[in-house]
Amino acid sequence: MTYAARRPPLPVAERWFDVCEVGDGITRITEPHVHPYVRSNAWLICGSTGHLLVDTGLGVGRLADELAGLLDRPVIAVATHSHFDHFGGLGEFAERAAHRDDGAVIETAEDYVTLRAATYPAALVDEFEAAGEPVPDLLIDALPGSAFDLDGFRTPPVGITRWLADGDQIDLGDRSFLVLHSPGHSPGSICLWEARSGALVSGDVLVDGEPLLDQLPRSSPADFAGSLRQLADLPLRTVYGGHGPVFGRNRAHEIIADYLAGAST
Ligand SMILES: [Zn+2]
Ligand SMILES: [Zn+2]
Repeated sequence: MTYAARRPPLPVAERWFDVCEVGDGITRITEPHVHPYVRSNAWLICGSTGHLLVDTGLGVGRLADELAGLLDRPVIAVATHSHFDHFGGLGEFAERAAHRDDGAVIETAEDYVTLRAATYPAALVDEFEAAGEPVPDLLIDALPGSAFDLDGFRTPPVGITRWLADGDQIDLGDRSFLVLHSPGHSPGSICLWEARSGALVSGDVLVDGEPLLDQLPRSSPADFAGSLRQLADLPLRTVYGGHGPVFGRNRAHEIIADYLAGAST
């Protein structure tokens, strides 16, 4: 008998996404029925001439449908990096941007892209186990709809329409975000920096409440340390991480200092 055959059926979620305005024209979208290890934050930022959507969740529910009522201007959807919990819904949007160094992974989606932790690289599972909590095999506790194919789900590969490089600007009219190439978690990880407000959208480069993951298959601890040193030099005010809560400058400096204290480079 297979595991799938023994498993009781999951309930269907009343609503897949949670959408919450967090201030400064920024809305957070999360997936409450996804296990916290892969429950990422997507950020919708509203400018006078366009919307910036940073990350798009797992692709289990239809994010474009959820946001349809909010998207009254052109949207650029950006993947902060190539991990499946961040770009799953990217293909639902017409303009899709990412850094080239993670592009091949996003465009082929050949990394661990299922909802079963058993398919993940041992290094990822080991890191979480070392942090004190084993990763459960099944990463959702409800279905987005009764027809959802839990065992057949794979993060869809996505064609990128705009390649982002360090120093690029994403112009939203009255707001503008600078692309910072911040490798280490993955080679093509990026952060987005708005100098006017001191807002940093940081992907998995800088998160609160979870370990900074630098032992994944394409991670580089040395690059990670260099990226964090760069972020520490910014006049940060508010950080919108790829997981966990919004946090401020002091907490950002604590997290960076903790990481650098343990880094060998
Ligand atoms: Zn990641
Ligand atoms: Zn992540």
